[in-house]
Amino acid sequence: MHENSRYQLAFDNISTLLEKHTSLLDAFSDIEPVILELFDAQRMSIFQRRRQHQDLVARFKTGKATQEIKVPISPLSIAGYVALAQRPVLIANPYDKEELASIHPRVRFADKFDKSSNFKTNNILCVPVMNAGVLLGVMQVINKQTGPFNDKDLELAEQLTELLGNKFRYELGGTNNPFDLLLHKNQISPTVLNDIVEGSADQRTIIQRLMSEHRIREGDIGNTLSVHYQVPYIGFVPEKYHLFQNESRLNQSYLKRNLVAVIADAHDRPIVLMAEPNNAALIMEIESAMGIDSYEIAVGLPNQILQYLGDGSAGGSPGDMSEILDEISAGDDEKDEHVDEMSDDAPVVVRLVSRVLHDAKRLDASDIHIDPEKNGPTRVRMRIDGVCRDMSQIPQSYHNAVIARIKILSNLNIAEKRVPQDGKLAFRTNGQLVEVRVATIPTVAGEGVVMRILASGGAMPIEKMNLAPSNMHRLESMIKKPHGILLVVGPTGSGKTTTLHAVLGYLNTPEKKIWTAEDPVEITQAGLQQVQVSPKIGFTFANALRAFLRADPDIILIGEMRDKETAHAGIEASLTGHLVLSTLHTNSAPETITRLLDLGLDPVNFSDACVGILAQRLIRTLCKNCKEEYDATEDDIAFIKRQYGEAYLDELNLPNPIRLHRAKGCEACGDTGYKGRTGVHELLSMTPELRGLVYKEGSVADMKKQAMKDGMRTLVQDAIYKVIKGDTDLTQVQIVSGAE
Ligand SMILES: [Zn+2]
Repeated sequence: MHENSRYQLAFDNISTLLEKHTSLLDAFSDIEPVILELFDAQRMSIFQRRRQHQDLVARFKTGKATQEIKVPISPLSIAGYVALAQRPVLIANPYDKEELASIHPRVRFADKFDKSSNFKTNNILCVPVMNAGVLLGVMQVINKQTGPFNDKDLELAEQLTELLGNKFRYELGGTNNPFDLLLHKNQISPTVLNDIVEGSADQRTIIQRLMSEHRIREGDIGNTLSVHYQVPYIGFVPEKYHLFQNESRLNQSYLKRNLVAVIADAHDRPIVLMAEPNNAALIMEIESAMGIDSYEIAVGLPNQILQYLGDGSAGGSPGDMSEILDEISAGDDEKDEHVDEMSDDAPVVVRLVSRVLHDAKRLDASDIHIDPEKNGPTRVRMRIDGVCRDMSQIPQSYHNAVIARIKILSNLNIAEKRVPQDGKLAFRTNGQLVEVRVATIPTVAGEGVVMRILASGGAMPIEKMNLAPSNMHRLESMIKKPHGILLVVGPTGSGKTTTLHAVLGYLNTPEKKIWTAEDPVEITQAGLQQVQVSPKIGFTFANALRAFLRADPDIILIGEMRDKETAHAGIEASLTGHLVLSTLHTNSAPETITRLLDLGLDPVNFSDACVGILAQRLIRTLCKNCKEEYDATEDDIAFIKRQYGEAYLDELNLPNPIRLHRAKGCEACGDTGYKGRTGVHELLSMTPELRGLVYKEGSVADMKKQAMKDGMRTLVQDAIYKVIKGDTDLTQVQIVSGAE
């Protein structure tokens, strides 16, 4: 066969195989033999780039070796070098020092694998996997049997990685760090940059240090940010740009706090200049407050933005919590009984509040509680993985000043202490903008504050949701439908938003127009049009939905079906050819149906529109570092049988003896025995049989029975499945079953 047609055939074959899979992990075992045959090679790996760690990990590789291979993005390995330089290499003999030196003076071949096995690496083809100019990983093919790899191989490999990068960009984590361009231009070393990023409280400090300690020029920093955020960079050029004037409702402190200026060019065209232009929520707020609908977005350095706003000095980084508290107690004797709460400038209070916020984000807390005590210090508690923990204490004399500081940050009335108030604040940490919802509540001991840290960052890949295989399979078939409505239900804090964004991430391709209406926008994704609704000013979910229908959508996310109007509009939208996703505060999937019918929805319309309902909860997962395996006791086994149901027990394939895991506690998990959380799911499919029951407005019990016949498993059953799998322990199942 002619070489070119052989290549074409292999490519078509790979494309077809990729079509069948949504995750690279699944696809790899299918495409690997084809790729190896194509190159006539022995082994291959696909390294995934890990954004947080500046390294690559071989998640997909030939053979069954369980040991995870990690290499830093550096010349210390071939793959690391290819990732660093973002260019492919062909190596005829990796043991030839001269050949390596001709590629880069410092590049090394990591021979650890060869040394630890009988394998000998003879030649290497290594190519970066890119998408939209962003490095996602590296593909390495080893040992072409018929001599070294050639340029034709390289060309093929590049076509192949383009295909992979495009298809799996979300799974591979398709964004990079704001300062990566500096690394690629060798303006700073990865270690030094990493130290600066880790050691700085926010992006502003990072930039200051890059400029003062490493003499990196403003323009170069602007350039790296521009590449990362994919928007133009605009410096402080007062002769060219001026502040955009209109009847803005935005005040200076809001703009300074969020590091954003609205400027205009000589033609008076508005430009939203931001330190972090990927903050869609902030853009939406500014757009709606200013009433502008046509503008450009650009990135600027924090100091330049403040210069446009007429201020070059704001902010600062907080110190260590214990240092701040030491400072307070050291100065206590000389101070008045109460710190002047009106003085926002009291630096120690400013730093104290800042420290609490930064610590909460670092520890991945979801909520911060500032609890006043009648006779004693104020307690600061944080909710981490769903459980409240005591973090620190603030001397009582500082209580009012701390509360006042939080209120100022969230634009609340500091004089009003008798009624609860709601507000919002934002702060930056490690270059990331963190939004916080603030609620003040007067108690008999004084004013308390509860702050909810809004999740930020991108969407979780759907494969990471830990769905049981049958649920994954059924959910995929539901969301592949071109129209219909999928509901995700559960109480507040059950991870509904995370799930919806995972589903959207899966569906998010350039050929789909996706609109979302959310309150608040917590997770942002490139490619989605996300809108923050604001019921207070009359911009409701139902309003947003009507607006979307005029804007040529394929997929619509409506944050919540709070009322009949929204539910009705959602059903209508799905019946007119759109895929609609939404949430409800119901406990179980079958109960959701009766709740909606009680709201007055037409049973025929609803059941025709509905494709499925996913109920979910979050449970804590055992710390992987210290979880303890043990033989299930008689009681455990009885509990499992009772909760899972004798009739279904066979599908669990219980081993004999049954081994379970329990919490122990170690340093890694703060002695709790648990680390992180995972979802448990109950997925109802709207089958023709169930639809018949909905028409007749059958009872919840009858609908549950039918849904289980159709493949649904309850939250408790799914929790048991995750116990057997070793993710969690029986205590967590009791929490799920107790809540039902
Ligand atoms: Zn542990």
